[in-house]
Amino acid sequence: MNYRAVETVDEYVARLETGADWRAEIESLANEVDADAGWFSALGAVQDAELWFYDQDECEYYPIEFDEPLEVASCIGNISLLDGERFAHTHAVLSDPDGTTYAGHLNEATVWAGEVHLRVFEEPLEREYDETTELDLWL
Ligand code: ZN
Repeated sequence: MNYRAVETVDEYVARLETGADWRAEIESLANEVDADAGWFSALGAVQDAELWFYDQDECEYYPIEFDEPLEVASCIGNISLLDGERFAHTHAVLSDPDGTTYAGHLNEATVWAGEVHLRVFEEPLEREYDETTELDLWL
């Protein structure tokens, strides 16, 4: 296990812009407040979404696409540096009009409305390619 202590230096709340991309909005927030590491939670609604599922046998992401309005019942993620850019690793639980949920790694989604709470950590977090999982994991 790879672990370290982190110190929260700032906390922000933000409203995501209607029509913008959900994850890009969180990355914009991280860029505006110079957050090289952080943890966030969010909720709201999206107009469409693309979730990814990671197949551990094939070491490949498979997209699950939704072209309909969905609630973001829960969204959690973190900010770290990937190839020198701030990356918002984002997971979400989305729900439809019946309350049925779909969940996974959120690649993209068009914001209807969104509210985010971001805690910014002092020490940066960086990702690097991991041979075993074929994922970009924390150093
Ligand atoms: Zn993920």
